[in-house]
Amino acid sequence: MLTLIRGAHLYAPRDQGRQDVLIGGGKVLAIGEDLSLQGQGVEVREINAEGRWLMPGMVDPLAHITGGGGEGGFHTRTPEMTLEEASLAGVTTLVAALGTDATTRTLPDLLAKAQALVHEGLEVYCYTGSYEVPVRTLTGSVRDDIILLERVIGVGEVAIADHRGSFPSARELARIASEARVGGMLSGKRGIVFLHVGDDDEQLGLVDEVIERFPVPITQFYPTHLNRSVELLEEGFRLARAGMVIDVTASTTPELLAQGELSAAECLARALKAGVSAQQISFSSDGNASLPEFNAAGELSGLKVGRVLSMLEALREAIIEHKIDVSDAMISVTSAAADYLGLSHKGRIAVGVDADLVLVDPNGIQVDSVWCRGRRLVHEGRPTVHGTFTVADD
Ligand code: ZN
Repeated sequence: MLTLIRGAHLYAPRDQGRQDVLIGGGKVLAIGEDLSLQGQGVEVREINAEGRWLMPGMVDPLAHITGGGGEGGFHTRTPEMTLEEASLAGVTTLVAALGTDATTRTLPDLLAKAQALVHEGLEVYCYTGSYEVPVRTLTGSVRDDIILLERVIGVGEVAIADHRGSFPSARELARIASEARVGGMLSGKRGIVFLHVGDDDEQLGLVDEVIERFPVPITQFYPTHLNRSVELLEEGFRLARAGMVIDVTASTTPELLAQGELSAAECLARALKAGVSAQQISFSSDGNASLPEFNAAGELSGLKVGRVLSMLEALREAIIEHKIDVSDAMISVTSAAADYLGLSHKGRIAVGVDADLVLVDPNGIQVDSVWCRGRRLVHEGRPTVHGTFTVADD
């Protein structure tokens, strides 16, 4: 059966004005003003979307779908992500990663959970590795993991400038990037090196050193958490101007903001003011990660959990509070990450791409409906598809 979404204001994510969008077979089949299928002999379900926005399903380039953390002991390991946490947020594509803990959290578990969420209705890719260097892999090499494992599209989050990382040398990081790049070349993927950037003064110095000393393209790297401070963000702008896409974390806490962290929406506002386009700065949720706070002595002083819903909240803050152009705000949660990760069938609405769509009520930027690969996961703000272990309340 085909579905015709009629009369929405289409952000693809660029502003296309009022359009009808026809979906079927999991794909976008047609876009146009006043599409008509009358007399074609096909059954079409029509959805009146007047007064709504239609945007691509959000693409989250960093989510800890199996949970993360544990910096305060075993009882502080954070829980797994559910289907509804993502779908209700309007996020349809996630890239899953391990973090600090690659001992009790494993790559087989990450891949299995990714497949579970795909089965339930989302699109999920994975990074091999974790914070650690040498990188933990499934097959024995970063290159082989990217080539042989369909859902693995890169390596990450490799930690730099962080007390929980391995402090890799420039040569070690260059070797990882080269492995990822060749793995990507041989498998038709981007082979991205997703970098967790910590709060050490070194900031992005190691990346500069790699690019200066080794023939590794700057576009192999994708650094995240650049919203830790104004200084780090401005370092990121310098690299963005050289072609890198940089990522900022949508999940935050009042405590972290008080310590100088910037919200993702504020980062986008600053980027646009600094002449860095929305396509060069993506938002990720860091969903289900721990957001640990450490005191001056390096001891854990607090712990919160990242939420995939932060993607929607950041979009809302960007449009409502920072008055950022709707297209620009949507680019940072859709095509910026999808394009840089080489996911050409994700993060935009065009004929032939996957029918990953979010119907938005502009009044308060609320999610009305969500489709992933043409399947409706959310209707009128409520889940229509439940995760395997969710107890439905309706
Ligand atoms: Zn991280």
